Amino acid sequence: MAKYDVVIVGAGFAGLSCAQAAAAQGVSTLVMERKSHPGATPHTTGILVKEAAQHWNFPTNLTRRIEGVRLYSPSLQSIDLHSPDYYFLATDTGACLDWLANTARSAGANIRTRMAYTSAQADGEFIRIARHNIQTRYLIGCDGARSRVARNFQLGKNQEFIFGVEVELRGVKGIDANHLHVFLDAQLAPGYIGWVVPGVGVHQIGLAVRWPAMPDLERFIAKLTRLFDFSSSETVSRRGGLIPCGGPVTPMTRGAVLLLGDAAGMVSPLTAGGIHAALAIGQVAGEALAQKFQGGTGDIEAEIRNARPNYFFKQQLRHVLDRIAPSNATYDRLIQQPLFRHLAQTIFFHQRGLFTWRAWQDILGWAQQ
Ligand SMILES: Cc1cc2nc3c(=O)[nH]c(=O)nc-3n(C[C@H](O)[C@H](O)[C@H](O)COP(=O)(O)OP(=O)(O)OC[C@H]3O[C@@H](n4cnc5c(N)ncnc54)[C@H](O)[C@@H]3O)c2cc1C
Repeated sequence: MAKYDVVIVGAGFAGLSCAQAAAAQGVSTLVMERKSHPGATPHTTGILVKEAAQHWNFPTNLTRRIEGVRLYSPSLQSIDLHSPDYYFLATDTGACLDWLANTARSAGANIRTRMAYTSAQADGEFIRIARHNIQTRYLIGCDGARSRVARNFQLGKNQEFIFGVEVELRGVKGIDANHLHVFLDAQLAPGYIGWVVPGVGVHQIGLAVRWPAMPDLERFIAKLTRLFDFSSSETVSRRGGLIPCGGPVTPMTRGAVLLLGDAAGMVSPLTAGGIHAALAIGQVAGEALAQKFQGGTGDIEAEIRNARPNYFFKQQLRHVLDRIAPSNATYDRLIQQPLFRHLAQTIFFHQRGLFTWRAWQDILGWAQQ
């Protein structure tokens, strides 16, 4: 029987970040990943906010810097949003995940692919994964929105979702490469948005809606032909998946079993961005686990709770938006309004502090006066 201090299920952003941080401090760490390699068939657009980009130093050939957001109303009027010194990174997401896996391996983590987790049982002070003949002191579920670890150990489950689909295309013409293009449309994207991302060597075009509705990407692309030239485009790949939008799950831990990232609902209920939180919380958890093995008495769950973004207000705003469900005519009117512009600016550019004094200064336009 192979013995580890920590077994992590899922080599996504949360799992790899946690593995890297734990292994770097000498914790014997195994990551179980069901895919053939961590970067195979990513399900995400992969945009990194500046805070994540600065912390993680992904190789520059795997990313593309984008300075601003162009926000379109349903009738395709647009406004440009920028914030001094702020930027996003489009990524070759599969390659970034493989790079992250190599970083974790270099720190000493064992990453085993084509190894699916199905179940585990508590066994005294250990947890036993009988199918793979493995025993561990801690089991960390980083296995995404529909976590099997959460199911097995009666932990909290995500209940609310956005469903997103995306194609990667080559050869689309007329897309301004300095902006993320974000589309509001109550009919095509009820509860969320459509997007066009000038990515790394491709354009990523996607649409997400409040689940259980299904996005009609073909209709969205047909609408985009009014703006961009698809006449010589070819599809490179398709991807999609569920994004939790109901906020953090409870309970997130039971004994020595812990959830992180999407499995724990650590995704902004408003922007649906989860990569930054997955990376950041993965690292906090990995370091807290290492301290535990070095004799520390800290409470891992409390450390994670303190470090994770506060989604409370974003969650409230999501519920308000779900309830009001603005019509296309409302969006077309709103996009002309300065207050709406400042609110949009704040949502896109204030990653952690939507309800800070600084954010409200921006919303009300006082910062510009
Ligand atoms: C269409 C779409 C677009 C998105 N765009 C963005 C964006 O641009 N920016 C952003 O910040 N966020 C975005 N998100 C959200 C973001 O992708 C997630 O929040 C993030 O990937 C969460 O990382 P994670 O490591 O928690 O989980 P995941 O990335 O879901 O990784 C889970 C890993 O666990 C593995 N796994 C699952 N079950 C098992 C099992 N039983 N055994 C072994 N392995 C298993 C999976 O194969 C996977 O590798 C998007 C999501 C979607 C669906």
